[in-house]
Amino acid sequence: MGPEVDNVETEFTAFPAQADVVVIGGGIIGVCTAWNLAQKGAKVVLCEKGRIAAEQSSRNWGWVRVQGRDVRELPLMFESRKLWARMNELTGAETGYRVCGIAYLNANAKEQHQRAAWAAKAVPLGAGSRVLDSTETALLLPEAARRFVGALFTESDARAEPQLAVPAMARAAQATGVAILQNCAVTGLVREAGKIIAVETERGRIACPKVVLAGGAWSRLFCRKHGIALPQLKVRSSVLRTAPLHGPEISASARHYAFRKRLDGGYTIANGWISSPEITPDVFRLFFKFLPEFLSERDYLRPHVSGQFLQEWRQERDYLSGGNAPFTQERILDPAPQIRGLRQAMRHLARDVPVFADAKVAQSWAGFIDGTPDAIPVISEVKSQKGFYIATGFSGHGFGIGPGAGRLMAEIVAGETPVVDPSAFRMERF
Ligand SMILES: Cc1cc2nc3c(=O)[nH]c(=O)nc-3n(C[C@H](O)[C@H](O)[C@H](O)COP(=O)(O)OP(=O)(O)OC[C@H]3O[C@@H](n4cnc5c(N)ncnc54)[C@H](O)[C@@H]3O)c2cc1C
Repeated sequence: MGPEVDNVETEFTAFPAQADVVVIGGGIIGVCTAWNLAQKGAKVVLCEKGRIAAEQSSRNWGWVRVQGRDVRELPLMFESRKLWARMNELTGAETGYRVCGIAYLNANAKEQHQRAAWAAKAVPLGAGSRVLDSTETALLLPEAARRFVGALFTESDARAEPQLAVPAMARAAQATGVAILQNCAVTGLVREAGKIIAVETERGRIACPKVVLAGGAWSRLFCRKHGIALPQLKVRSSVLRTAPLHGPEISASARHYAFRKRLDGGYTIANGWISSPEITPDVFRLFFKFLPEFLSERDYLRPHVSGQFLQEWRQERDYLSGGNAPFTQERILDPAPQIRGLRQAMRHLARDVPVFADAKVAQSWAGFIDGTPDAIPVISEVKSQKGFYIATGFSGHGFGIGPGAGRLMAEIVAGETPVVDPSAFRMERF
């Protein structure tokens, strides 16, 4: 089971049968898109098949970072960071946003060199990151018992509480006029003369000229039914949280672990840079599209085989032949955590930073990260389907960039000049 997510009340007396825009998906991307659109005066309905933020948007590490991003994302991340800095004020709630600094700890010269190469590209663009030597790293993380070769450090990077922040944004969106429906899957698009005229939901039809798909790991399946080829795969990522303990303020990661202090005094901990692509039927269909990414990440990939292969094969068969089961039966994607990887993380962390040696594990969970072949999102109109827009594929870093991405998607939908150049995120690049 996933972490406990703050509740968002969404009781409606009347089903909204019409909207200017329907947003599919109540993760951070759908919520921020809907919120921004409502601020522009649009009548917005957001449909979530399960609960607000129950999938990736509550299960993530809670890192709000510029550091390590693809440089094409940096201008949007800078905008997002400005929004995060005001998020408590904008939502009228505690989102856990704290500037704490984020460090990537380097075990050897190769890692130090890779991080320095990123800094050489990103610092001139305004990233504000620094490459630290061994002594500077020891001063930054005095709790460490191990001597690192160095670190990449961004002092202005931050953390926030996913389980509080996204529900707070959803309530703010409601206050701005967004109608949020939970347990309401969108099962298809209704088109006439090449244009979208409505969406079909499990509770009835909503007439609308524009639809934004922010369906996270489900986006590809939804698109396939409508003849849109969205290359997207899933990576299983496991996390644990500890009971409160006195430890570092900064968030940091090394090859086998990553930690982030929580508002409740505990830590969110995961297995560093190791990632587990899930072997599903799509891996075979998309193998060559993802091959360059697989090769560049090969040191960190641990492919995972599970019942998910069969589950997805059945879901595709049902949905593509006219059923709705995937969206109405699997309300919340809740993969099992990989306990071995988490134990390994705790072992390495306790050895390197001994304050974690007595940490009590309070809970563990996993989430499916949705990724694209170039590991940056799609935030785009779909040119072949008038009125259809996609914001998905955030490839493991959509929480931090979410507020900015929601703003950008809303501006594209509204036909306004976008806050940053969106061309890197266009759908047609595939
Ligand atoms: C373990 C883990 C750690 C991560 N760590 C970080 C981090 O530290 N920092 C960071 O920036 N990012 C991180 N990420 C990535 C980040 O969480 C995601 O990029 C981001 O949450 C994606 O948001 P989303 O709204 O696109 O998707 P989601 O949060 O997955 O939301 C999609 C929603 O759409 C709904 N949906 C799908 N189809 C339909 C339909 N047909 N009808 C109705 N509803 C539908 C789903 O039920 C779901 O709730 C991490 C992710 C994971 C899993």
